[in-house]
Amino acid sequence: METLFHSVILDKDRCVGCINCIKRCPTGAIRVRDGKANIISERCIDCAECIRICPHKAKQSRYDSLDILKKFDYTVALPPPSLYAQFNNITDKSILIEGLKAVGFDDVYEVATAAEYISAATRVFMNSTGAEFPVISNACPAVVRLIALRYPGLIPNLLPMLTPVELAGKLAKKLAVEKTGLPPERIGCIFISPCPAKVTANHSPIGLEHRVVDGSVAVKEIYPALLREMSAIGSVSGEVSALAVPPGRVGIGWGESGGESAALFSTEKYLAADGIENVIGVLEDIESKRYRGLEFVELNACPGGCVGGVLQVENPYIAKAKLNRLAKRLPENRVRLDAEVTAVVNVERTVSYDPAMELGGNAQENYERYIQLQEILAGLPGIDCGSCGAPTCEAFAEDIVKGKAIRENCVVIMREKMEQMLDAFYNHSVEKGGCDKNDNC
Ligand code: SF4
Ligand code: SF4
Repeated sequence: METLFHSVILDKDRCVGCINCIKRCPTGAIRVRDGKANIISERCIDCAECIRICPHKAKQSRYDSLDILKKFDYTVALPPPSLYAQFNNITDKSILIEGLKAVGFDDVYEVATAAEYISAATRVFMNSTGAEFPVISNACPAVVRLIALRYPGLIPNLLPMLTPVELAGKLAKKLAVEKTGLPPERIGCIFISPCPAKVTANHSPIGLEHRVVDGSVAVKEIYPALLREMSAIGSVSGEVSALAVPPGRVGIGWGESGGESAALFSTEKYLAADGIENVIGVLEDIESKRYRGLEFVELNACPGGCVGGVLQVENPYIAKAKLNRLAKRLPENRVRLDAEVTAVVNVERTVSYDPAMELGGNAQENYERYIQLQEILAGLPGIDCGSCGAPTCEAFAEDIVKGKAIRENCVVIMREKMEQMLDAFYNHSVEKGGCDKNDNC
């Protein structure tokens, strides 16, 4: 079986098996066995909750180093809107664009510009007959993976378009080819990522046949060099040359929760939620049809939206304030959706149900395993203590059914067994005239 790529990984040497992470995982993808955490790859959505909670920094994110620039003859940086919010006193984006060039990129395509195209295309889509309401944003890859795993009934509601990062990658490549005359494979479009989920999605795009972004460097990786270069530059007068039309407030707003929804203009029947627990709550409510008349749902796994990604450097609340300050200085919207961009945005994307949460086998086997699981579960203490290494007694019963754990991994069962053995031992001993277990002998 092909190994899935994940940005989120475990550093085994740092893991002390404290089980802090197992209950925070929204897909039950972590088990602690033999004193170390293990991630069940098929279930991981790279939401980074385990990175946030691990007190020993054993859960980490992998991404490309800046050395990736050396692999290409021409490179284009794809900075996300939330990147502007990592620096103090940015009242003009030009300095950041110049900074990215000074760090080593040949050109820049702002993802916020692509986000404005997506907003415009979403407005058109929402008025089309093909829209399944509520339309759910596909911009957060952790949310899309979560839907594919746990809420397959909502797959038709996902916005059927490229994400802003993917669109920026495609448009940047095309413009850079036209500008340089180089073949596409010699041009590297590199995303500056705020979170592991986007690193993973760029490496293995969900529902697309080919990747469209050539690499992902973490914000925190590039930040020191960028800050140094920006400080050296000092100030820039006016807009600088970049591959794309500069974005306005609409595109920049995508960097925080609520920005994508606000850019729809045409509807107020939207909902924006952030943080994985809130996202799950909203998805469950949509599934059980609790919202009437809702037209658009924006969901971000990170608290506060992309400003809250674990690869950022700034506090998300401060970052939000900085982003809003910058946005106020910009015109509302700068792009115009033409036929050429529309054709690129509305790509065929196939998100399909991922059965990794199931017990496996064909329908009959799945049913038999389910019955077996219920029988095992009935014999477990039901206190979800986590000391067996699974997040809940149900997850532990599932592990037993799958042959990945045995009942005796449960400390309560083990203690009962020990007590029974001791009782048997002392009963036998008393019969032979020896000590009772309550005697101090
Ligand atoms: S929180 Fe999880 S990954 Fe971190 S040390 Fe504890 S068991 Fe290991
Ligand atoms: S990244 Fe999220 S889904 Fe993956 S193991 Fe960590 S908490 Fe679970």
